[in-house]
Amino acid sequence: MKQSMTLIPTLREVPADAEVKSHQLLIRAGYIRQNTSGIYSFLPLGKKVLKKVEDIVREEMDNAGAAELLMPAMQAAELWQESGRWYSYGPELMRLKDRHNREFALGATHEEVITTIVRDEIKSYKKLPLTLYQIQTKFRDEKRPRFGLLRGREFLMKDAYSFHASQESLDEVYNIMFTAYSNIFTRLGLDFRAVIADSGAMGGKDTHEFMVLSEIGEDTVAYSTKSGFAANVEMAPVMANYERKTEQIKDLEKIATPNQKTIEEVADFLDVSSSDCIKTLGFKVDDKFVVVLVRGDHEINDIKIKNLYQASVVDLASPQEVKEQLGCPIGSLGPINLPTSVEIVADAAVEYIVNGVAGANEEGFHYKNVNPSRDFNISQYCDLRFIKEGDMSPDGEGVIQFAKGIEVGHIFKLGKRYSEAMGATYLDENGRAQHMIMGCYGIGVSRVMAAIVEQFHDDNGIVWPDAVTPYQVHVIPVNAKNDVQAGLAEKLYGELKDAGFSVLYDDRQERPGVKFADSDLIGLPVRITVGKKAEENVVELKWRKTGDMEEISVEQLIQTLRRNIVQ
Ligand code: ATP
Ligand code: MG
Repeated sequence: MKQSMTLIPTLREVPADAEVKSHQLLIRAGYIRQNTSGIYSFLPLGKKVLKKVEDIVREEMDNAGAAELLMPAMQAAELWQESGRWYSYGPELMRLKDRHNREFALGATHEEVITTIVRDEIKSYKKLPLTLYQIQTKFRDEKRPRFGLLRGREFLMKDAYSFHASQESLDEVYNIMFTAYSNIFTRLGLDFRAVIADSGAMGGKDTHEFMVLSEIGEDTVAYSTKSGFAANVEMAPVMANYERKTEQIKDLEKIATPNQKTIEEVADFLDVSSSDCIKTLGFKVDDKFVVVLVRGDHEINDIKIKNLYQASVVDLASPQEVKEQLGCPIGSLGPINLPTSVEIVADAAVEYIVNGVAGANEEGFHYKNVNPSRDFNISQYCDLRFIKEGDMSPDGEGVIQFAKGIEVGHIFKLGKRYSEAMGATYLDENGRAQHMIMGCYGIGVSRVMAAIVEQFHDDNGIVWPDAVTPYQVHVIPVNAKNDVQAGLAEKLYGELKDAGFSVLYDDRQERPGVKFADSDLIGLPVRITVGKKAEENVVELKWRKTGDMEEISVEQLIQTLRRNIVQ
């Protein structure tokens, strides 16, 4: 492609609103342009990269036995009402009306549409399992669209759905998809981890997220220093291997702690460690009021509370609610002498506290020498806290460390959630109607593009891995007005294309400095500069990744490129 004939609007300045490198560089190098918050155009170079990512995804999906289809982005509200998600999805679902005042959703995901297609077309167990996928634009009115393509309101997703007559069949396809996902992200050259995103199951059998490791990731991955264990920190189970102090149990003592509000302040004031303190918080678990205890140095994980109660909404109780339920201010809460009607649950670590400190349900007072089994009743001790760095890995091997990750893929065993809600059944061997068992598998294709840039860039611009580069070779005549240089550059452009390389040819009448800066910004793997030595049929070959340069004769060029570029 001649640069004069395409659109690559590069910018020298960093756009003011672009916080992360991928956003800055994709804008500056002319790959994308913002339409409005969270909505982007992919300019010619951007479109090429997207296509490369799509092609890899397609190949691996096809290899995994999934068949591609394309479903509508605009979907009748009735479908979403049938599944119940019209009411539960919330404001993220973009809704609109047609001229007849009929309601529609713009697809945030496609479980509803695919379930109706398969429900209507598949009648017998003989046609199962079946896996279908599409690569298509999704719409989500995200609360905080940000970081460019990483969290958009309109974005490209590959979504696959599988349908089964048995759990074993789902397990099998899930594993195949797991492998396909690992292949995809490996081929894209990404440093990633497949992490358990499932709350209960230690083996993480039911859902995995694929995380690209990156400082700017919104998710935290908890991984073992020794084993392959990796989980989303929100979901990582904590292995209870606490030890009880051996000291004598002492008498409960109420003491004044004026103006000491936080756990740290109280611990300092009483000269104890925060791990000797009990943190007491009131929660609204759906409509139920629950008191939750954790050790002072631990954080309550509300997802674990949610799972414990199988609740839909878990929120910290407001000061007024605490006052109503317990008759005391929120800052002085403690587990001793609470109304017996109130349920108290505690994280497993609390049981091991000896002579601890807890709030006295009275402004400015705490109890010392608190001993859980003696001083209050707990309905249940269980895992309710976030895992911490330094904790033992839940599989017992190594300790936990944290890394930040960008979620690029998610695979999930749905079970019968949609087939039951929408009546998707098949006839089994005995002619009995059974609900289909489903799995779903997503990849954020446009997010992947940004994640690649996060991992592959330097101070001068993007450094595309071979697998997704928009073109392989950038040909640049230093002086386009010089006939010999322009002539050789043009000739090389033709020959390289004939040899099967994809080539971007900078035929613009720009200063060399501008062309080189643009070239680094755009980030193709190879730059060929045609300069003064054009007369001797010699050009300069530069590798974007290493910066290595060599002078090379035109005759040797194609051979060298063939040896070094994976085609
Ligand atoms: P997140 O937690 O980041 O919001 P999600 O759990 O909502 O993601 P899924 O519904 O599992 O995501 O969607 C499948 C994939 O689509 C995700 O793994 C991610 O790569 C991508 N994705 C989700 N939301 C966005 C978005 N707003 N912009 C770009 N890609 C997205
Ligand atoms: Mg989301």
